[in-house]
Amino acid sequence: MTDYNALAGGILARAIDRDALALPALHPGLNALAAACHAANAKWWQDPATGQPIPRNKGELLMLVVSEIAEAMEGERKDLMDDKLPHRRMAEVELADALIRIFDYAGAFGYDLDGAVTEKLAYNATRADHTHEARLRAGGKKW
Ligand SMILES: [Mg+2]
Repeated sequence: MTDYNALAGGILARAIDRDALALPALHPGLNALAAACHAANAKWWQDPATGQPIPRNKGELLMLVVSEIAEAMEGERKDLMDDKLPHRRMAEVELADALIRIFDYAGAFGYDLDGAVTEKLAYNATRADHTHEARLRAGGKKW
């Protein structure tokens, strides 16, 4: 059985490790993954009958990410293994699907995930509303 409290403690210890937030340490290659996922998904950006490029709806694409997260939640709720990769947990595979969709999206629209993730992690580390004290106040973020 997973010890979620120990797991959360480890995550918290890493999250407050300011050295881990140093900008040179964070160039995880997200933009390269975006380019790779967008290239792998090229057929979804083409009309299947003609092969011509098709415009994609951003709202629809973002909701497809949400649908993968919902599938991951169902996998966790029912403690399921994946049906397509049966050696893996369903949630793990659905999270991979969500990431693939996010990377495809970022690759298509030229978003700089390397830079945005690096900057947002650094910003979040300084947020007063994320401290334990702020979270314990009335109206604080409980989760
Ligand atoms: Mg899926």
